Amino acid sequence: MSRYRLEPSRTQEEILLRHCSDARYVWNLCVEQESWWRRGRGRMPGFAERCRQLTEARAASPWLAEGSVTVQQQAIRDHAQAMARFFTGTARRPRWRKRGENEGFRVIHVKTPHVRRLNRSHGEVYVPKAGWVRFRWSRPVPGSAKSFRVTQDRAGRWHLAFAVIPEPVHGPGTGEAVGIDRGVKVTAALSTGEMLTVPRLSGRESSRLLRLERKLARARRGSTRRRKVKAQIARVKAWEVDRRKDWIEQASTDIARRFDVIRVEDLNIKNMTRSARGTAAQPGKNVAAKAGLNREISRSAWGALVRRLEDKAPGRVQKVPPAYTSQRCSACGHVARDNRESQAVFLCTACGYAANADVNAARNIAAGHAVKARGGDRDAGPVNREPQLDLLAS
Ligand SMILES: [Zn+2]
Repeated sequence: MSRYRLEPSRTQEEILLRHCSDARYVWNLCVEQESWWRRGRGRMPGFAERCRQLTEARAASPWLAEGSVTVQQQAIRDHAQAMARFFTGTARRPRWRKRGENEGFRVIHVKTPHVRRLNRSHGEVYVPKAGWVRFRWSRPVPGSAKSFRVTQDRAGRWHLAFAVIPEPVHGPGTGEAVGIDRGVKVTAALSTGEMLTVPRLSGRESSRLLRLERKLARARRGSTRRRKVKAQIARVKAWEVDRRKDWIEQASTDIARRFDVIRVEDLNIKNMTRSARGTAAQPGKNVAAKAGLNREISRSAWGALVRRLEDKAPGRVQKVPPAYTSQRCSACGHVARDNRESQAVFLCTACGYAANADVNAARNIAAGHAVKARGGDRDAGPVNREPQLDLLAS
């Protein structure tokens, strides 16, 4: 994801804000609809059905019809993808969006060319209803991008990001397979014994953030000082996000280049077996909020890593059934519940093999038999790929 600073004019900013509010409105409608769902009520409407509902709603409401249909439909798609991630256990259930938080919308290009360069430092992108909006040409614009996202951060700055499917990375050609387990403490454990952890803020940065948050709590509502502190907080949080994204790109390229076959657990199944797997080290909801947050970050990074691997190593990522991966000894094959001495250490009661529990699981995954892709997590269409245009006609 390459991000650029967007510089809308005053009038354009109004339109962008309207797009944000439309996207939020439609997203929240989807969230509300999901919240009505109860067991036995049948399926929730899918993307196509919701687009049909949107068409009806637009016909009934002039206010809604005034907004951009592209922006509104993309919000439905965003929500559908968020639900798909939730069902695979890689993200939280999509939540209600509040004004001023995570403001943004997605546009898919119908018209090309949609991006043009003005001079050395600036370019323009075509946004429905707003027309050509200037942005800082801070790095090359990917030619393959067919959709982009416009966001406004809490500091009020506008950004533009193009969604790009990365070029496939070639494997080594040796046939070597690697297993990757979603770790408890680490983001990903490799069967080679490597432990990958998504970067977080350093101790110094965390304390700075804490200081700023205290400052914010003391600042008067609506004051200039409050706005300034808010912007500072937004900047610190943005570092963390940037670092996480870089990490995902680097880790996925590295793995795709070093191994020909990449095996991960099938999360659709894993989600259900996790609780049976003995999570003694995760005492549930009473753990400190921070530990919960770290786990959340790690989880979403794991999901993003697997999606990136599928992009960069198409056809080389295999989903393995998760049964017994954590209880089986990767040295002798003995399976027993009591093999697990603790969440962190695996100790085989049959042969005495001892290893980091996540690495032992990763080794089992590396040796695992691939299941056919069931497509369960692809209901909303592959993430980062382009929506089908026929669904957008209205
Ligand atoms: Zn053993």
